[in-house]
Amino acid sequence: MDTDQVRATFLEFQRERGHAILERASLVPHDDPTTLFTGSGMQPLLAYLEGADHPDGPRLADSQPCLRSRDIEDVGDDRHTTFFEMLGNWSLGDYGKEEQLRSVWELLVVRLGLDPSRLYVSCFGGDKEYGLPRDDESAAVWGELFGAAGIDAPVADLGTLARAGEVGSDGARICFYGRKNWWCRGDSMDAMPIGDPGGTDSEMFYLFADIPHDPAYGAHCHPNCDCGRYIEIGNSDFMSYQRTADGFAPLPRHNVDFGGGLERTAAAVIDSPDIFRTSLLWPIVQRLEELSGARYEDETYAFRVVADHLRGATFLAVDGVVPSNKAQGYVMRRLIRRAMRTAHTLGLDEDFVGGLVPTVAALYRATYPEVEERHERVVDVLSAEETKFRRTLDRGLAHVRTYVGQTVTGADLFAWKDTYGFPVELSLEEVRTEGLTLDPGWHDQLDDLVREQRERSRAATKKEHL
Ligand SMILES: [Zn+2]
Repeated sequence: MDTDQVRATFLEFQRERGHAILERASLVPHDDPTTLFTGSGMQPLLAYLEGADHPDGPRLADSQPCLRSRDIEDVGDDRHTTFFEMLGNWSLGDYGKEEQLRSVWELLVVRLGLDPSRLYVSCFGGDKEYGLPRDDESAAVWGELFGAAGIDAPVADLGTLARAGEVGSDGARICFYGRKNWWCRGDSMDAMPIGDPGGTDSEMFYLFADIPHDPAYGAHCHPNCDCGRYIEIGNSDFMSYQRTADGFAPLPRHNVDFGGGLERTAAAVIDSPDIFRTSLLWPIVQRLEELSGARYEDETYAFRVVADHLRGATFLAVDGVVPSNKAQGYVMRRLIRRAMRTAHTLGLDEDFVGGLVPTVAALYRATYPEVEERHERVVDVLSAEETKFRRTLDRGLAHVRTYVGQTVTGADLFAWKDTYGFPVELSLEEVRTEGLTLDPGWHDQLDDLVREQRERSRAATKKEHL
């Protein structure tokens, strides 16, 4: 089963369960100035989760393209991307916890055929400070499902993520964590504004038993460990509480919000820990192999960065974003420029960005035909940025290489940016790749120069106005 079939199976399953299937929303939220991109399936539905009636009824589902710019630095491992699709289903005051968990099981085990002995789950372990009980109800449903499949399901109470890394889950099937399994908007349950909805959640993980635990992530492994042995494939949020002045009160209407990573689920289905091997990413990697002559096995990190960033930039262009120095345009510019700089390590120093767009368009022909329909404009937008940055990149790279054997200071980084327009982020990557020495005080030196420059320009503006 490929990624398109996983998506189709999910949507058909939700349709059978009486869900209305929604069209995808744009990557750029229309009337939400607080966030740059659609970063989850629930984001466009927030008003309905907060109480408004949805015209299509209380059961909704979709597959929503998402972009998370804060994940840019994480791209390069086997499971992070900036652009991805999120499978979602929602109950607006309709079905509850038990039906949701049973349906997730049916989806993963029966419809998608995942081996249930590779599945692990987490549940909310309770919170003493707020007097919130442990979510034994979810644990009981999971226990019964595993039991019916003939799978032993030991339970462990792991507490915080830090503690979980110290003690490990020791093969437990159902793991209680503390606030890791509390869903809310914003950073933490303490920071929730009064009135905001929140609740417990329950995640599903898929085990890649051949990947050994890496002690760099903690003494012992557990489902939320970042070593790559477990991959999170989906999460059911139970929005059933509301923040009050001194704690939490039950919400009058309970909602369910499920989000599952399409590419990660597809990776589990083909039993590959590397999501870049799934059918909506691998052809992009293969096209890059053709264009560069390099091999994925030899330059895995670079292939992943370029494939992810240019797929994301393509979808941004489809949704009307153009590279610029602010907001969405800035992130798009960063994706394209980072992809170009990284492609340089694959020997791709000629214009190539436009050559990848038809590959992306072909992959999404059946699902998002707008990619193909707008592909000429997309090529124009991406190629214009590529041409603009190509000269900067070539001059900058040549200049940085003249520093071999010398120490690079904050003043050098500032000058490269000021004179060559070479972004500091790229300079630092080049310093690393070329093995140059960086002055330990570079950060403060750079900050001082940037501040001085800002003050100078302010003084100049004042003069003009006088
Ligand atoms: Zn681990």
